[in-house]
Amino acid sequence: MLTFAHQEHRKTYYFDSKNLELNQPHLAQHLHADVCIVGAGLGGLSAALELAEQGKSVIVLEGARIGFGASGRSGGQAINGFEDGIDEYIEQFGFDTAKSLWDMSLEAIDIIDERVKKYHIQCDWKKGYATLALNHRRLDDLIAIEQASRESFGYQKMQLWDKTQLKQHLGSDIYVGGLFDSNSGHLHPLNYCLGLANACLNLGVQIFEQSPVVDMQIQGDKVTLRTDKGTVCSQNMVLATNAYIANLPKSIHHGIARKILPVESFIIATEPLDQATANSLINNGMSVCDNNLLLDYYRLSADNRLLFGSDSSSNKDMVQVMRQNMLKVFPQLENAKIDYGWGGPIDMTLNSQPHFGRIAPNVYFAHGYSGHGIALTGLAGRIIAESILGDDRRLSIFESLKIPSVYGGKWVKSLALKIGIPYYRFLDKYR
Ligand SMILES: Cc1cc2nc3c(=O)[nH]c(=O)nc-3n(C[C@H](O)[C@H](O)[C@H](O)COP(=O)(O)OP(=O)(O)OC[C@H]3O[C@@H](n4cnc5c(N)ncnc54)[C@H](O)[C@@H]3O)c2cc1C
Repeated sequence: MLTFAHQEHRKTYYFDSKNLELNQPHLAQHLHADVCIVGAGLGGLSAALELAEQGKSVIVLEGARIGFGASGRSGGQAINGFEDGIDEYIEQFGFDTAKSLWDMSLEAIDIIDERVKKYHIQCDWKKGYATLALNHRRLDDLIAIEQASRESFGYQKMQLWDKTQLKQHLGSDIYVGGLFDSNSGHLHPLNYCLGLANACLNLGVQIFEQSPVVDMQIQGDKVTLRTDKGTVCSQNMVLATNAYIANLPKSIHHGIARKILPVESFIIATEPLDQATANSLINNGMSVCDNNLLLDYYRLSADNRLLFGSDSSSNKDMVQVMRQNMLKVFPQLENAKIDYGWGGPIDMTLNSQPHFGRIAPNVYFAHGYSGHGIALTGLAGRIIAESILGDDRRLSIFESLKIPSVYGGKWVKSLALKIGIPYYRFLDKYR
């Protein structure tokens, strides 16, 4: 069953502050294009934009609304680098591949800079991001990241903060220190997504909303996608369906759904805080994430709301759970009203490495961004476009990453999460 199909946007802070209305028709005919893309999130739209910039005819099919998925609900933190330590990457892939992956993670941030400027996208894009440690062992991990990125890759944009330095910027007592990165940042993800969609439309891309793809046929160098009311025949196809991939019939996903373990994450938004209160929480505009396995992440919105998120198993009253999480960090917000609460699935892989590749020579996919999708979707779109245009060298690097499969279908996945979340909580407490 396609759980997302024909749905409207969730009621979120992002939805109520969106700055573009781009209602697009549903597909009700038979069309041809050079490339057909499934999914109008940041990943699909990024590929569409890169291809349209190079003169390709592109159709995007979205089962719900543009930005309906993770892209329109996310924490909005655009973070470079890897989920694992740099030394592990060098050990696993060798220095040259690890360095290429690192450079591409920096390019992913540059892509946001470029697109915001080039297409005048109003999405509150702001630089500055800190990863914070709740104990000294976790601070050692941050010290190792700073050292390895500087010594191995010559990266100079990170700064280690002890508790006193951190307190100059953050009104919380619970951390022992942190790692500030002046290059990563944050944005309003739905407005960024709509901005990309608008840029695509202006370049002639056709986007169809409320058009869930229900079947795919690959015949040689042609791919035909069928929605519930129309079809698109194209030379190349890109699957950018992210955590929703497990909903699709195997005729479409060809088994790659096994690489994704969707983990629920939730966000609350306070009422707008007065300037003095907002400054007393975060005074340098940065976004923040701790380095637990089940982590908290937060930032101030353009209108001074605290947007506070956590990875968690769902509970009947997520807003209360999230409020308690927020008060552990900022007890001074006891009287702040919570205006919004929402959630969505994050597309994790078992080893937190992204999964980009091909099902067939002309059928591409990108997913498994594992909490780095705000930035990495831009890169995925670019390297898939490069490959469609004839240069697959960078895609091949990602294809060489080994992503473990999660066997056992949806029920086993949901059981794994039920067991996994208390286990990660235990590790966060005692490791
Ligand atoms: C609560 C939350 C917080 C997050 N916070 C962060 C963060 O701070 N930083 C970060 O980097 N990442 C974060 N993420 C993850 C990040 O948002 C995603 O990795 C990224 O948005 C993925 O983009 P996408 O385009 O691949 O997928 P999505 O935005 O999920 O788009 C996939 C689209 O495909 C459509 N679709 C699926 N199947 C079909 C079909 N058969 N036919 C037609 N359409 C289909 C869906 O409707 C959906 O719109 C967060 C995610 C969540 C849910």
